[in-house]
Amino acid sequence: MNSLGQFYDEIKDCRKCRLSESRRHVVFGEGDPKAAIMFVGEAPGEKEDLQNRPFVGAAGRILTELLGRIGLAREEVYIANIVKCRPPENRNPQPDEIEACSPYLWKQIELIRPRVVCTLGNFAAQVLLGKKVAITKIRGQYFQVRNFFIYPMLHPAAVLHQGNLRPALEEDFRNLETFLGKRIEPVQHPEQMGFF
Ligand code: URA
Ligand code: SF4
Repeated sequence: MNSLGQFYDEIKDCRKCRLSESRRHVVFGEGDPKAAIMFVGEAPGEKEDLQNRPFVGAAGRILTELLGRIGLAREEVYIANIVKCRPPENRNPQPDEIEACSPYLWKQIELIRPRVVCTLGNFAAQVLLGKKVAITKIRGQYFQVRNFFIYPMLHPAAVLHQGNLRPALEEDFRNLETFLGKRIEPVQHPEQMGFF
């Protein structure tokens, strides 16, 4: 068993925060354990909690479709979330829940060693960049963090509710394809943005 599998065994019964009381599954994530690209959403929803898989509902269908358009299957990337248990009624994860859970995501990143971590939506961008940021301002830019890049994208669920955002998300996917084909320098360093 690889170490990502071992790590899953370690946390699959986690009770570190209150989300453990109402969840069905710790939705760990799925995909290639050596993926060059990771996608990180906010938290599992109802379908994800039932099926123990990330992004399998309506937002997941958009993610899968846009991946396909740039020639990627879900199995070729790694998909996970900031918090691994579904918040009741799909409310936002609370700060102490994020604090309890986000070390698991950092550990996954450490084990997978991706070149780029695509954050989906405001939430994931703020947690991984460690700063309150407006996703519409920073989407589509690369931020070098440790030995990988963070690439903030809109959340596919936002596109479901606001169809006019769809071209922006599609553009971010096309640019990701370009990034993977040739090495692009980051537009800005987090330090220059006042991050960290
Ligand atoms: N939205 C998310 O942020 N994550 C999922 O896994 C599903 C929907
Ligand atoms: Fe543990 Fe994370 Fe689930 Fe909280 S959300 S119980 S920290 S796995």
